[in-house]
Amino acid sequence: MLLACCLAVFAAPRSAPAPCSAGSVALTFDDGPRSTTPALLDALERHQLRATLFVVGAHADAHPELVRASVRAGMWVENHSYTHARLTRLDDAQVVAELRATQDVLRRLTGRTPTLMRPPYLATDARVRAAARRVGLTEVLATVDTHDSRGASAEAIADAAERLRPGGILLMHDRVQAIDAIPRIADVLAERGLCAGPVSSA
Ligand SMILES: [Zn+2]
Repeated sequence: MLLACCLAVFAAPRSAPAPCSAGSVALTFDDGPRSTTPALLDALERHQLRATLFVVGAHADAHPELVRASVRAGMWVENHSYTHARLTRLDDAQVVAELRATQDVLRRLTGRTPTLMRPPYLATDARVRAAARRVGLTEVLATVDTHDSRGASAEAIADAAERLRPGGILLMHDRVQAIDAIPRIADVLAERGLCAGPVSSA
């Protein structure tokens, strides 16, 4: 009995690479702030993960306290348009207005001016990118899409994290499915020696 106990205790741990030894990836969550944001922040903080939140300006105006809480939790808050518009269907002035309105609310709430934008539905073209540049924003798409907004399970979302390469960008949404996947994603990154970092250094 005693031997069994001690063998178990002293069994060699599964060897994990040193933290960050394989580089970093960017975890990103779109469409907040919304009712699930407190749970998202809680899960990320519990697993010591930092993420980029591409927020909808109108949602930020409606939930200023959640934007502030996101910054306090160490998240990077960036621009996902003001009304979640399909930007490729708008004229140049409308695209600029969508992006500027979100810059204004986020600057007011966080004291920081966003530098990144993700177009809703990943719908973009050269014209949208040019409008973004006029507002001082760099477009960010994704290298791995979890398809969480189409009902992917937490397991499938974590499996998508397995496909990330160093420097990769994982697309998720501020929704229950992705929040449920965070413990598994944390394990996947730790097992692979990957850190969750900002998009700019990913
Ligand atoms: Zn979106």
